[in-house]
Amino acid sequence: MYTDSADTSWMWLAREGMVPVVALAVIVCIASVDLSVVSPWSSAPIFGNGETAETTRSTPSGRTPSVPLVLPVAGVPASDLVDTFEDARSGGRTHHAIDIMAPSGTPVVAAAEGTVMRRRTGGLGGKSVYVVSPDTSFVYYYAHLAGYANGAAEGTPVDAGDRLGVVGATGNAESSNLHFAIWAVDDLKRPWARHPVNPYPLLRGG
Ligand SMILES: [Zn+2]
Repeated sequence: MYTDSADTSWMWLAREGMVPVVALAVIVCIASVDLSVVSPWSSAPIFGNGETAETTRSTPSGRTPSVPLVLPVAGVPASDLVDTFEDARSGGRTHHAIDIMAPSGTPVVAAAEGTVMRRRTGGLGGKSVYVVSPDTSFVYYYAHLAGYANGAAEGTPVDAGDRLGVVGATGNAESSNLHFAIWAVDDLKRPWARHPVNPYPLLRGG
C-alpha cells in the first residue's frame, strides 16, 4: 500500500518505461545547479532521485564498514536474523536491506557510530533515520519506526548502541520490524551514487 504520492508517480513512470528518460532529465537538472548548495543537512530528500529509501536498484557494494556492528534492535539474538537482502519487492525493486522482526516499541539503537544526518517521515520507510559514518563513506538507514528517541535529533553524533527510536510499522511495513540498510556512498553531494551493502553477514558476525 503506497501512500506517498511521489512514489506512486514513479511507479506510473516505471510502467510506462519512462524511468531512464526522466532519470536523465533529473540528473541533468541536478548537475546544472551549484552543487555547493546541496548539503547533506538539507531538508530535501537526499536519497530521492527516483529511488525510494526503502529499496534500490543500485549495484551492491563490495565495500563494508571497517567497524563491527551492533545489532540495531535491542534483545534480538543474531541467530534470529534472516537474510532478505536479495528479496524481490514491488515495481521490480530488490530489497537490499534486512528486516529485523520485533514487537512495536522495542528500542532501536545505532549499529555503528556516526552523525544523525536526517530524520524523515513519510514514504515507504515511514518514520526513518539516516546516520552517516564519521568518514562519510557509509550511511545507515533505519526505517518503519514508531517514534524517535529524544537524543536522535538531526546533527547529533551517536555512538554504536545509542538509542535512535523504537520499532514500529510505519510506511509500507506489513508488521512491526526494523528495515535496516547500509549504503556505501561515493560522495554525499551525489546521493544517487550509492551502493547497498548486505547487513546480514555483518550482523551475524558481530
Ligand atoms: Zn524492509
